Amino acid sequence: MGTVSMTGVSKVYGGAHGVRALDNVDVHLAEGEFMALLGPSGCGKSTLLNMLAGFEGQTEGAISFDGRSVVKPGPDRGVVFQEAALLPWLTVWQNVVFGPQVQGVPRADYEPRAKEILRVVGLDAFHDALPAQLSGGMRQRVGIARALVMQPRALLMDEPFGALDAQTRLSMQQLLLEVWQRFKTTVLFVTHDIDEAILLADRVCIMTARPGRITRDIPITLPRPRT
Ligand code: ADP
Ligand code: ADP
Repeated sequence: MGTVSMTGVSKVYGGAHGVRALDNVDVHLAEGEFMALLGPSGCGKSTLLNMLAGFEGQTEGAISFDGRSVVKPGPDRGVVFQEAALLPWLTVWQNVVFGPQVQGVPRADYEPRAKEILRVVGLDAFHDALPAQLSGGMRQRVGIARALVMQPRALLMDEPFGALDAQTRLSMQQLLLEVWQRFKTTVLFVTHDIDEAILLADRVCIMTARPGRITRDIPITLPRPRT
C-alpha cells in the first residue's frame, strides 16, 4: 500500500511545441518509503507531484498508485502545499474534519482519528482557534492534519516548510518524521533544500531542468539523528 510507479513519464505544457517540463522519468516508491525530490526551480518537481496527485495528466508514459492508473485526485493521496489554504471561517477542528464530512464519512469513524491526529501534530489546545489566530507553522500543522485525516497511503508534500522561519522549519521537520513513523505513509517530499532532503528522506532523487529529468537516485543509509 502506498506504492508509486511512474514509467517513461513525460509532460509537455502548451501543445507539441511547448515546454517539456518532464522527459522520460522513471520512478518507483515502495510502501512506507520517504523520498525527497531535490532540484532547482523549474526542473519539474511540482509537475511530477501534481501528476501523481491527479491534478495534471501526463503527456506520455504510465503513472500508477497501488497498482491502479492515476486519473484523478483521491483520498488515498494526501497533498500538502507551501500554504495550507485553510477555510478562514472554520476552526482548526472544523478544517480538519471538513474532508471526511464532505465525503460523507460517519462521524464515529473520523472523530477518533481526527482527535488522535490533532494530538500528534501538537494542536490539541487549538481545537477551537481560527486560522487567523495561528502562526504559519501551526497552520502547516493543520494542513498536515487535514491530509492525514483521510487516511492517505501517501503524503505528497510540495515545499511544505518553504515559507517558514528556520526555527519553525526545524520543529516541523521533526514533527513530520514523527508523523511518518506513526502513520507509516509513503512520503514524496519536494524541496530545493539539500540539507532538508538529506535530513528527512531515506532516498533523494536529484532532478535537473530543460528537460526535467531525474539524474541521480541516492539512498541515504545513515540513521537519522535522535532528538
Ligand atoms: P519546479 O517545481 O521544479 O520548480 P515545475 O514543475 O513547477 O518545476 O515546472 C517545470 C517547468 O514546467 C518549468 O519550465 C515551468 O515553467 C513549466 N510549467 C509548470 N507549470 C506550467 C503550466 N501550467 N503551464 C506551462 N508551463 C508550466
Ligand atoms: P512551531 O509550529 O514550530 O511550534 P510556531 O512559530 O508556529 O512554531 O509557534 C511556536 C509556538 O508558539 C507554538 O507551538 C505555540 O505553542 C505558540 N503559538 C504560536 N502562535 C500562537 C497563538 N496564536 N496563540 C498561542 N500560542 C501560539
